[in-house]
Amino acid sequence: MTIAIALLTQDLRLHDNPVLHAAARSADQVVPLFVLDADIEAAGFAAPNRRAFLAGCLADLDSSLHRAGSRLLLRRGSAVAETAKLADEVDAVAVHVAAGVSSFARRREAGLREHFADRLQVHDGSLTALPPGAVAPNGKDHYAVFTPYFRAWQQSTRRPPHRAPRSLRTPDGPSGIDIATLRDARADSPQLPPGGETEARTRWKAWDVAAYEEAHDDLAADGTSRLSPYLHFGCLSATELVDLAERRGGPGAEAFVRQLVWRDFHHQVLAARPDAAWQDYRAKGDGWHTDDREAQAWRQGRTGFPVVDAGMRQLAHEGWMHNRARLLTASFLTKTLYQDWRIGARHFLHFLVDGDIANNQLNWQWVAGTGTDTRPNRVLNPLTQADRLDPDGSYVRRWLPELAHLPGRAIHRPWLLDRPPADYPTPLVDPGETATRLRRGRGLD
Ligand code: FAD
Repeated sequence: MTIAIALLTQDLRLHDNPVLHAAARSADQVVPLFVLDADIEAAGFAAPNRRAFLAGCLADLDSSLHRAGSRLLLRRGSAVAETAKLADEVDAVAVHVAAGVSSFARRREAGLREHFADRLQVHDGSLTALPPGAVAPNGKDHYAVFTPYFRAWQQSTRRPPHRAPRSLRTPDGPSGIDIATLRDARADSPQLPPGGETEARTRWKAWDVAAYEEAHDDLAADGTSRLSPYLHFGCLSATELVDLAERRGGPGAEAFVRQLVWRDFHHQVLAARPDAAWQDYRAKGDGWHTDDREAQAWRQGRTGFPVVDAGMRQLAHEGWMHNRARLLTASFLTKTLYQDWRIGARHFLHFLVDGDIANNQLNWQWVAGTGTDTRPNRVLNPLTQADRLDPDGSYVRRWLPELAHLPGRAIHRPWLLDRPPADYPTPLVDPGETATRLRRGRGLD
């Protein structure tokens, strides 16, 4: 009787799971293991919202594994040490794990490699639809610009998704932490989605991808999939989602796949440049403006620019923010207030239930002009953006109760009213000068 360990990380699912699939083929029995990693907790990355969401993911995965005749073994500590301990307990012939792109994932993989040598099998087709490095420009290790990456991605061959295992045999012996004890994990945001593969699949089925192209930029329509936390924890595989969307076809599905390619794009950048998690991908060449009072007003959703404040309050309340709101709140911090993108990235990582090093840090860098944007000096004017993305003010009205009585577009410019609402702040910067600091910083005026 041979036993393999499937060390699960950002792949908390049964469907299309290369790690589980390969582990089941490599031995008579499989132990699906998840380690609550002390290093992630020590680094502060296990923020309360993600911890609460993760608890749901693990409970759901355990139930699905039980239905397949298996169970999830949960342990706490160092992933390498716990896997090594378990391997000794069950005399494992192999350990399977998905390849990751962050520095943390690489350290974990190096530790596992050192301990297990040839017994370790790393699967690179799990995290993204196309593995990082699968396509690269001549003589380079990654694409630094999205459009050529997208073209190469479209021409590449992708693996077909795996079916969920019907049954998995798992030995009785090893014991771990009771997953039910995680239920107490308290979130910071009152309105988090429930975690887990079951919920993710239900959401995908209920969501109308055909309407995506029309609706995805409309803040109030809330027409995006909201699948990002499920993708971050791997409750859904990007490979399978691309496959499902391509089968549906049409402009909505095409626009949706394009966004999933952005996800792959950022992952291949981080895989090649792990330091881009906290260092400028492209040096900016001048200093940021520092003002704690302004940064705090931004965090609290009290900048005096209603559309910016609405985004920041959605983030605090839901642990999620619409993509367009992420772009304009990030642009406001880095281009209008001209503050360091790391201040914003940290705040987002604290709240976002989909908070992800590749997607968060590289999107922040894109907006800040230190990343992969080919127009690094672009500034999103919050007022033009508000008029375009929230034309009748419904999004702002939803998140700023103190302005909810204001009619139509007037809500975007409360300072123009004869009697501006007393409980809402005046704009942090002159509304006519939203790009001033950027111009100064770049020596443009
Ligand atoms: P949909 O529009 O339905 O898109 C489907 C999927 O495509 C998303 O779930 C996501 O996995 C991927 N995707 C969409 N847009 C992007 C993008 N620009 N970059 C990379 N992947 C994308 N996304 C995260 O998953 N985690 C983050 O921590 C994160 N931080 C961000 C920070 C900033 C400043 C910005 C501008 C964007 C950030 N994004 C992040 C990307 C994007 O905003 C979210 O993925 C998206 O809003 C999630 O909503 P959705 O699932 O409804 O997206």
